[in-house]
Amino acid sequence: MAKAPVLTPRADDFPRWYQDLIAKAELADNGPVRGTMVIRPYGYGLWERMQAEMDARIKETGTQNAYFPLLIPQSYLTREADHVEGFAPELAVVTHGGGKELEEPAVVRPTSEMIIKEYFSKWVQSYRDLPLLINQWANVVRWELRPRLFLRTTEFLWQEGHTAHATYEEAREFAAHIHREVYEDFMVNVLAMDVVPGRKTARERFAGAVNTLTLEGMMGDGKALQMATSHELGQNFAKAFDTRYLSKGGTQELVWQTSWGSTTRMIGALVMMHGDDDGLRVPPRLAQIQVVVLAIKGDEAVLAKVRELGDQLTAAGVRVRVDDRTDVPFGRRAVDWELKGVPVRVEVGPRDLENGTAMLARRIPGGKEPVAVDSLVRLLPTILEEDQALLLTQARERRESRTADVATVEEAVEAATAGGWARVPWATLGEEGEARLAEHALTVRCLVAEDGSVPDADDAPGNVAVVARAY
Ligand code: AMP
Repeated sequence: MAKAPVLTPRADDFPRWYQDLIAKAELADNGPVRGTMVIRPYGYGLWERMQAEMDARIKETGTQNAYFPLLIPQSYLTREADHVEGFAPELAVVTHGGGKELEEPAVVRPTSEMIIKEYFSKWVQSYRDLPLLINQWANVVRWELRPRLFLRTTEFLWQEGHTAHATYEEAREFAAHIHREVYEDFMVNVLAMDVVPGRKTARERFAGAVNTLTLEGMMGDGKALQMATSHELGQNFAKAFDTRYLSKGGTQELVWQTSWGSTTRMIGALVMMHGDDDGLRVPPRLAQIQVVVLAIKGDEAVLAKVRELGDQLTAAGVRVRVDDRTDVPFGRRAVDWELKGVPVRVEVGPRDLENGTAMLARRIPGGKEPVAVDSLVRLLPTILEEDQALLLTQARERRESRTADVATVEEAVEAATAGGWARVPWATLGEEGEARLAEHALTVRCLVAEDGSVPDADDAPGNVAVVARAY
């Protein structure tokens, strides 16, 4: 008899499957104010691992962490016209404090360009103060109309980088460096995510930016998700905040700036890119628990063995959890770890002890087989790396098999509404075609060059538009 599904199968109802998984894997709950989210310990553990990996990469670029206030004077927001226009509909504004109406309302940051760039103006005096490279880990609030756990919440956690440079070229190179060496490297090598790096069209660009670089991922249902963005801000904010430096030649020059962000949305992406009908599948390099060692029964010899194995694996550098909660039925615990997507389960019962074996269950390829207990320390690091690679391959194969190269706008609409991506020459599509896509709830996710690199300009010859329905 087939076992009853724990989650709504993806093929029946993908959004429902997503919600079920988040609840049953104990990642998050809805918060009491619409669009807010409570991140539960297992979900927060994923975020902490993401933060650690990203933070190390960010620091490698010479960027330092700092912290700026949550509340921004409303008047600051009027300084950069495009930026204000873009964010105005999403703002939460504090009008009262301490029981009194405030003289000047304060905006809850939707992003921190406004306040950080103001302080950059104070800190930057001479070319010696440049480049100025700052990152902050924080929460931001954007009043979202169609909230979805992790993907689009009203309050979310993120890192936002803000930099100032002496030249256009340096700012541009820095934005590109973050895009590829921080974001893409992290997503591919830690999250095992297949992402397409590209450039946003003018229509999709960040409000106030001159260029937005993006990484787009294909989710399990064929839709696209924007995973992180890196913006060249040109001198737009430098003009708005009058951020100038004394050049080597003795002249006063405006700085060139960048900003870049990635958020708790990446947890939603992880679910939708790697999850299956049994739950999440966490890439081993990310997993806070790579291997769970389960005691099937509560007898002393079994408990001693699982604890010993836990110690040996920890000593071998594996992130291990010992599950000796034998008052909870074994089957339930196994399903629970499966839902949570822990890459490997090692199950030990009395019969295994007699045989000197343990059951090895691999979440990512699936399947279960007995192995000699003595071989586990040797085998597991290799198995974890194999499974890490498999996740990336599966995601890449899905995108490749569900992406169609097409020649016309009509064909692009057809392919992208059928649950996949379409690649269409930008010269054929253009801004007019892009507007027509919107009528079908489709967007250009990004522009890519023929050889897969990121184009320097929207109209570079050979540019291809990646068209999809997006989250
Ligand atoms: P932005 O500052 O608009 O470029 O946003 C930076 C990144 O935040 C984007 O690349 C999105 O992946 C992500 N993002 C935007 N809005 C939300 C939201 N409401 N919840 C979670 N992540 C978001």
